[in-house]
This record gives sequence, C-alpha cells and structure tokens, in this order.
Amino acid sequence: MALTYDATDAVVLAGSNIDPDQCVPEAVRHLRRRADLNVVAVSDCYQSSAVGSVDGTPDFVNAAIHLSTALAAEDLRDVLHEIEDDLGRVRTEDPNASRTIDLDIIFYGDLVKDFDGWSVPDPDMELRSHVAVPVAEVVPDWIHPVSGVPAGEIAESLVSEHEVDAPAKVIELSPPYVRRVEDFDDVAEVYSPRLEALVRARLEGSGGDPDREGGARAPLRVAKALDYLTSGYTTSLEEVVNNAVFDAEGAEEMVLVRDVEFYSMCEHHMLPFFGKATVAYLPKGKIIGLSKIARIVDVYARRLQVQERLTNQIADALSDVLDPHGVAVIMEGQHLCMMMRGVQKQDSNTVTSSMRGTFRTDARTRAEFLELAKS
Ligand code: ZN
Repeated sequence: MALTYDATDAVVLAGSNIDPDQCVPEAVRHLRRRADLNVVAVSDCYQSSAVGSVDGTPDFVNAAIHLSTALAAEDLRDVLHEIEDDLGRVRTEDPNASRTIDLDIIFYGDLVKDFDGWSVPDPDMELRSHVAVPVAEVVPDWIHPVSGVPAGEIAESLVSEHEVDAPAKVIELSPPYVRRVEDFDDVAEVYSPRLEALVRARLEGSGGDPDREGGARAPLRVAKALDYLTSGYTTSLEEVVNNAVFDAEGAEEMVLVRDVEFYSMCEHHMLPFFGKATVAYLPKGKIIGLSKIARIVDVYARRLQVQERLTNQIADALSDVLDPHGVAVIMEGQHLCMMMRGVQKQDSNTVTSSMRGTFRTDARTRAEFLELAKS
C-alpha cells in the first residue's frame, strides 16, 4: 500500500519468550494490518538467553521490523502497546519477566529524545547484541543519531570486540536474505517461520530433499505464497476502501462491474478455486471508486473460503460501506478440488449469487441486472 502522507522511517524490535514462533509473526501481522504504517522489512528471528534472568527462564526470540509511518513517536508507542495487549502481554514491575511480546522503538528517524520512562534511540541498541544484530540485518546503514556509527558496525563491535555471544539465528536462510516487503507491490507479504518449518517437514516426509538445488527455497516460497493467498485475514475493509467513497451527486442508476477476476482457496482442501465475479449496486447518495470493488473482492477471496460465503461477504461489505438501495453479486468459479480429485468433473462451473435490497424485492431491478450481467 503506497503511503500518501509524510512518513518517518522507524525500527521496532519484537521480542518474545512465550510462544515466540507464534507471537513474533502475529505482531508483524498486526502491524501490517494498520493503515497508518507500512512494514518495509522484517529480519530473521534470533534466539538469545534472557537478560538478568533466573535459571529456567525460556530464551527470547527477537526480530527487527523496519517500517515507515505517519504516526508521531509517542503515537507509535501507543500503537505498539495496544498490539502488546492484544497479544496477551501482562505488564509487571519486573522488566525481565517472561512475556508474549515486547515491542520497542529502537530508532525513529533521527529523533533523539527522552520521554517519560523511555528514550529514542533505545539505549539497548548500543549495549545489547540481541537488539543490535537483528536491527543491523534490516537497516545496516542506519546512522545512530547520537554516536554517528552505522547499525551494522554497532552490531559487529558488540559481538566481536566486547566478546558478547551473538544471538543464534533460529532459522537459517540462504544468506543474504532480508525480506524486503516493498518488493511485493500489491499486498505486502509477511513470512511465517512456523509455516516454513512445517512445509520443510512435509517435503522431507514425502522423501523430497528440500535442500536440493532448485528446491532449496521451496519451503520459504510456499510459506510466503500461502501468507499472500490468505492475506485477506489481515486486511481490513476500511484499509481497502480508504476514503474512496464519494457523494453520488444525483447518480441513481445501477453501477455494475462485470468479470472481476478472483482467486481463492477452498476451506475443505486448501485447493484453489477461481473465476469471475459480477458486482452491482443501486446508489443511495454514495458511490465508490470502481477499482475498489475489485479490491473488496480480493479481501474476501484471499481467505480459505466456500464460494457461497465469499459471495455473501462481498455483498455485505458493499452494503456496509455504501448503504445503497440494493447490492447484487454473481460469482462463477471452477474448483480444483473437483477437477483434480474426487469426481474429476473438468467442465463444472459453480455459480453463486447474493441479492440484497431492491435486487431481491424488485423483479425489474433484478431482471435489468441479470440482463446487464450476461451481455
Ligand atoms: Zn475443496
């Protein structure tokens, strides 16, 4: 999603020692879902023993997140606290207590400032390798605004000159591999290390060698692809519509968009189904940018679905956003789970429809729609 406002680059460190393989990716998803910031890159996950802890405290997993945001530093901090709360963080007096997630601002542009109880840049950036190493992975050239030393050099000197243990990478990826989210121009991708491990196990279980040349990054690619194909779960309707609702200025005729391509996956077999959607509405004072209709279809198609529910959700979304006189959606899809397995019906098309308001109550409106939809 392109930002259309002045944005500041910032680096946030995510740390967890309770279910980290779920909590760290989940924190990134929460960040990605927000319209007021953009995740640019995420580092690998690094494991290290807890600081100042008693024996038996589980190790921490840390990852650095490079983002750009329109939020002021204090507001970004509030957002991070909300996400911590959502992920079940319990705040105690003990700064070293185990936690599901800890989200700290390490850098915020070139800001140098003491707030009430915290500072930017985070002092741990120059003291702790578990902070500096992941940060250096995503932004090696970021100049520390106080010392003037690049992040990469800070991490190197903490690890080598001061003879601190470098945190161990939890997941080894073919280096150099920094996940640049900006490389994907539509929906930003986030990668799940847990999913990658599962795909790897699946490939090994079927006798494949995930590390063979050509297939070496298949587990990573599958994890990224599945994340993208289900990205509708972390995309909100508000984010997609993004103020593209306009005054209809007297326009009362039916608006109809035909043959919107969709790609989804069935919730029963996780196999694709795909086809075309026709979407229409009768405005009551409000209209929406035409391209947004295709985006709304995507929000619900990029989930595990059944075609009937997908059709209804698109109709509901347009009803919510526009409060029109009526909405109609027809979807025609081919289901690979029927074509590749089971009954192997190659030419079967599944047609579903959802009619709301006047499309349901007024036969003439419905007839006009059906006529326009097929021509
Ligand atoms: Zn299926």
